[in-house]
Amino acid sequence: MRLHHKVAIITGAARGIGKAAAELFCREGATVIIWDVLDAGQETAKNLQNEGFSCQFMNVSTTDVPAIELASKAVFDQYGHIDILINNAGITRDKTLVKMSHLEWQQVIDVNLTGVFNCTKAVVPYMIQNQYGRIICTSSIVGVHGNFGQTNYVATKAGVIGMVKTWAKELAKNGITSNAVAPGFIKTEMTDAMPNEVKQQMINQIPLKRMGEPKDIANAYLFLASDEAGFVNGQVLGVNGGQAS
Ligand code: NAP
Repeated sequence: MRLHHKVAIITGAARGIGKAAAELFCREGATVIIWDVLDAGQETAKNLQNEGFSCQFMNVSTTDVPAIELASKAVFDQYGHIDILINNAGITRDKTLVKMSHLEWQQVIDVNLTGVFNCTKAVVPYMIQNQYGRIICTSSIVGVHGNFGQTNYVATKAGVIGMVKTWAKELAKNGITSNAVAPGFIKTEMTDAMPNEVKQQMINQIPLKRMGEPKDIANAYLFLASDEAGFVNGQVLGVNGGQAS
């Protein structure tokens, strides 16, 4: 029960990595608030409630500032504290630079970069009130190394690392740590869409010779959210089976 009495907001937790994190955080004693645009978030929350856990779904897009501000206030008013924010929501719109439209660029920037800014800016004042907080942002292995066909996505995942390192300096005096997790190739709906032969090529590059599971990333979130990680600040934790490390 490493998150006993903690309140955690996890964005993009209707499915995939965020859903695995919601399940793990509930089992570790947290109250979990799912912010997602996908109605499946309702079912994810219901299933956890049926198991006796404290979990709530709010239909909040990380791009909708008024909705984020309202939802943050509602969570704080209900529980009196917001301890953990996992900025996990993300999208891809992959194209090579030559083929990528300005719209595809902007959509990914809006969700993966500005969305992280929006949610953190809204939640941090409540963390400051309680002089405690854990901010965890989802970067990617490609945010460190670049990737063919992902100019927009890579820009956001590199940007997230810059924000986390900045907040580590700005917010530490308020008892708030900021860190990033950089997943490698993880089995979720996001990667299911890739052709099998491309997936196999990717797996061949991973020393552990397998894709990661959502729970592999959820466990990294858990460590960074726990009291044991109290002196870990401004770091990027790679979870990638040894790929490109
Ligand atoms: P996923 O299965 O696509 O789940 C992401 C969730 O976020 C979906 O429910 C999605 O809803 C939701 N979402 C999208 N835009 C949103 C918004 N504006 N506001 C709130 N929720 C939103 O993705 P995943 O694979 O679990 O990825 C989770 C995070 O890990 C992402 O940041 C991703 O970039 C990162 N990551 C993943 C991998 C990987 O291999 N899977 C590797 C490195 C990093 P919709 O379905 O409606 O879009």
